Amino acid sequence: MKAYKYKLKPSAKIVAIFEIWLRLLCELYNAAIQERRDAHRRCGVSIGKKEQSAQLPDIKKDRPDVARIYSQVLQETLNRVSLAFQHFFRRVKEKKEKAGFPRFRSHRRYDSFTYPQSGFKLDQKRKKLHLSKIGSVKVHLSRPIEGVIKTCTIKREADGWYVVFAVEEAAHKITVAPDQTLGIDVGIKVFASLSTGEQIDNPQFLRHGEVELKKAQRRVSRRVKRSNRRKKAVKLLAKKHQQVRRQRRDFHFKEAKKLVVRFRVIKFEDIQIKNMVRNHHLAKSISDAGWRQFISIVAHKAEEAGGRVEEVKAAGTSTKCSRCGQHRKMPLHIRTYRCGACGLIIDRDHNAAINIKERKGRTVLSSRRSVATVEEARTYRATDPESPTIKRPRA
Ligand SMILES: [Zn+2]
Repeated sequence: MKAYKYKLKPSAKIVAIFEIWLRLLCELYNAAIQERRDAHRRCGVSIGKKEQSAQLPDIKKDRPDVARIYSQVLQETLNRVSLAFQHFFRRVKEKKEKAGFPRFRSHRRYDSFTYPQSGFKLDQKRKKLHLSKIGSVKVHLSRPIEGVIKTCTIKREADGWYVVFAVEEAAHKITVAPDQTLGIDVGIKVFASLSTGEQIDNPQFLRHGEVELKKAQRRVSRRVKRSNRRKKAVKLLAKKHQQVRRQRRDFHFKEAKKLVVRFRVIKFEDIQIKNMVRNHHLAKSISDAGWRQFISIVAHKAEEAGGRVEEVKAAGTSTKCSRCGQHRKMPLHIRTYRCGACGLIIDRDHNAAINIKERKGRTVLSSRRSVATVEEARTYRATDPESPTIKRPRA
């Protein structure tokens, strides 16, 4: 499954319907959570998707506004509740972390609904999307869809409305990358140093974007809480966040594609990001680079190209001479590796990249879903921290 996302150009009338649906679906979502919670707490029984779905006809009789929503969209909302609970029970079972009970969602944070099977039709020629019980919406169809559309999700974001199609792609021929191995040292000064001696530079737009972000952040904190001007500033901040996130993701995809056609095995250091972020000087560059995202995108693209990504242990990759194996101290500010034993003089990161390439690693499996929805998952929430986030469902 691959996700295709396009901007929508809905009329004011359609936007009004979108908003009404989101509100009602959020209400349904919260009510379904409430019911399951109550049943669980009071009687220790669990209510399933089936039971909750079976109530829909009665709810529709009482609530003509809910009845106007496409039936499968309602079902899908209950499905989300069900998934949230499945996730919760799994965490309880694993006892890995404190499992939080599925939460109520604020209507502000409830920002999408899905046609899971039918009820929508995309006319690619006329660039129109027909949504059952809503109407026709113009789509900014920036690239054609290849494959069979399975689901259609309407989504509210900081800068407007989007549609996301989950598409089943026709099995395409895999062109296997040549049997070459690459080591990558993730950098501070440059984005990445390759074992071939090449470098990928840090994109400047991220620095620029960060300046803009800071400005927007300051504007928010200057403004009076709960004021309209503050709300406006929060919106703008969310937009800036979205912009930077997209640019970074595009950059990662672009660079990943270039690598996977050249190398079948791509090795990264298993960097302890958490530890590094604690170090103040490195923090900005590292979080900027979003290494986790890059590695998972490369892993995904490599699999498509019949290759793989491996992670190797990081210890000593920068202190070891890549020619003779001797170690020497290498404080961070020293940019050139000079080996006292064999006389090798080489760029510090290039040396590390070669060591990474030569090390045995373990394969990083890409989670397809996590890549397809990287952007979805990281969607910055444009809520003001001062505003209440939980909306209780109607009794
Ligand atoms: Zn040496």
